[in-house]
Amino acid sequence: MEFYDLHTHQIFLEENDDPYHSCIFDVYPLEFEVAKDSYHRHAFSCGIHPWYSEDSDTQMAYLNEIASNPRIVAIGETGLDKLKGPSFEVQIPVFKKHIELSEKLGKPVIIHCVKAWEELIQIRKETKPTRPWIIHGYRGKPELTRRLLHEGFLFSIGDQINVDSMQLIPVDALFCETDEDEMSIREVYRQTSQAVNMDIEEFADCVAANIRRIFPTVHPPKPFYPKEVEEES
Ligand SMILES: [Zn+2]
Repeated sequence: MEFYDLHTHQIFLEENDDPYHSCIFDVYPLEFEVAKDSYHRHAFSCGIHPWYSEDSDTQMAYLNEIASNPRIVAIGETGLDKLKGPSFEVQIPVFKKHIELSEKLGKPVIIHCVKAWEELIQIRKETKPTRPWIIHGYRGKPELTRRLLHEGFLFSIGDQINVDSMQLIPVDALFCETDEDEMSIREVYRQTSQAVNMDIEEFADCVAANIRRIFPTVHPPKPFYPKEVEEES
């Protein structure tokens, strides 16, 4: 099976990095130049986190310059956070600039959203995006999940999980991620596959198909077969 990590901030240097995963590595615009030469196996997402959206003109100008680079496969993480960061007067225009860029370049958006679901849904209705919007670290309750599904959002699941919501999300709308968490990507797949009542191989095949559909340029990782890997080591 193949383990794709939709959203992470943590990758070891390639000599000691786990070969059995392929990541979308989240970097700031000004970090991309160095990161792209240090990491060859992984793809990138690039954007301005809502926490740091104040005075972000330089990062934004640079993002506009580099975002067409084929190694950047998604715009973000971007989004809205009611608990942390500047006011929505600052956050919303910065988020909307990411949306414009996503539409212009035909690249999906990776979204961070904390307690701002009404605003997020409103902005989606207003901007009518044609590109996929993936909510990362999703752990919302079933009622919210139904609404977001109705609006066409996709979901990336990390270590914290709302099992009741997982029953509602079709598997073709799911991804897995490690973000800044300690849980390994294999463990996230194991936990998420249990929550959707699938065996891990079957679940990983579905997520891999989602990646190929939405991120066709992401390199496949070395496939992981637990028995063979144990024999190797
Ligand atoms: Zn993140």
